[in-house]
Amino acid sequence: MIAIAAVPIRDRNGRDCANSTSADELIDLAPSNEICSRRYRGSARTRADLFRWQPLPGVSSPKHSRRLSFRNEVASIAIPAIPTEPIGSIPRPPELIAALVGRDGADPALDALDDEAIGDTIAQFDATGSPVVTDGEQRKYHNFWTYSVHGLPNTAPDGFAIPFAAGHTRRMSRLTGGPFRYRRYADAYLDVAQRCATVPVKQAVISPSALSLMYPADELPGYTRKQFIDDLIREHETEVRACLRKGAHQVQIDFTEGRLAVKIDPSGGLLHSFIDRNNLVLARFGEDDRKRIGVHTCPGGDCDSTHSADVDYADLLPALFGMNVGNFSVALAGEPDRVRVLELIRNLLQPHQRTTDDCGFAPFCDDTSTSRGTAFAMIRSRVSGTALASDSLGVG
Ligand SMILES: [Zn+2]
Repeated sequence: MIAIAAVPIRDRNGRDCANSTSADELIDLAPSNEICSRRYRGSARTRADLFRWQPLPGVSSPKHSRRLSFRNEVASIAIPAIPTEPIGSIPRPPELIAALVGRDGADPALDALDDEAIGDTIAQFDATGSPVVTDGEQRKYHNFWTYSVHGLPNTAPDGFAIPFAAGHTRRMSRLTGGPFRYRRYADAYLDVAQRCATVPVKQAVISPSALSLMYPADELPGYTRKQFIDDLIREHETEVRACLRKGAHQVQIDFTEGRLAVKIDPSGGLLHSFIDRNNLVLARFGEDDRKRIGVHTCPGGDCDSTHSADVDYADLLPALFGMNVGNFSVALAGEPDRVRVLELIRNLLQPHQRTTDDCGFAPFCDDTSTSRGTAFAMIRSRVSGTALASDSLGVG
């Protein structure tokens, strides 16, 4: 019954492995009402009460007074002894999605809406009792993949395309010339989120391997692939260091292309080249820094679809765990045989406990397949379920 919370993971080098799981799974784990009422001290709430909780109407506004009463309710919830944290993205508010249509994501006219969306996101995160929050990636322009390079003058829009099972594609920018520089670094998002948050903030960044797909198949005149990789690695290092220096709870490298790489090249050659590229950067960090760096893998998520769910985790995880990071977040909810994957993880690493949301809720800005209300309801279930699982396991 408690396998999901019991599995991951600390490996032989002391690295944690976050085990992501679905809210449904956590709810299924919720034990008796007796445990609920004991854990959620100060009240005799039943399990059903816990999962009926919804944000107050005022939560749609970040105004402190409007959310205080709900936060007081949440204050009676015990912080789960098993660590739990989000992955990153939260669906944007409808008004922000509408404003992004036909506009460049960097348009200053969006600033006020962005700020309101970030404030509201963190307020709603607070209301879930989540001990770690994110800014929901409200300001990552169009998506988690291209935020750092969006608007660069030396790019064209017809870059690498990811096909999703539902039939649509998402495209990366194509580099048209050197030198390669980020246009923005994720620590700027962290600055804003930390001003709003009352608990630690996690920051996701895009992997060097994903951005390496910007370089075209044919070598660019006057700017070699090696020069590009050198520049890319330096830019990524700069971004991660800035996030660490500013106190990010964890810097999570989004590596959704890992599983996709196996689909493109079943020999594993592309995957290993991606991991080697990412390890080039990670080698520049000390052990203490790497404990706060993680990697997230999943089958890709967009509009209720995926790009590589048909790839067996057995073809990814042994190589993935060769990445020199302190934390692994592995999406599991969509797996047809989660127990098998968990056993695979257990054979590769040693158990340590952690839960996450399975994946970002809307990594692309225009994804309306999940509402904000549903996303936060699932986060509340993750937090509550993790506390119940902590109690069941006698942790803490
Ligand atoms: Zn994901």
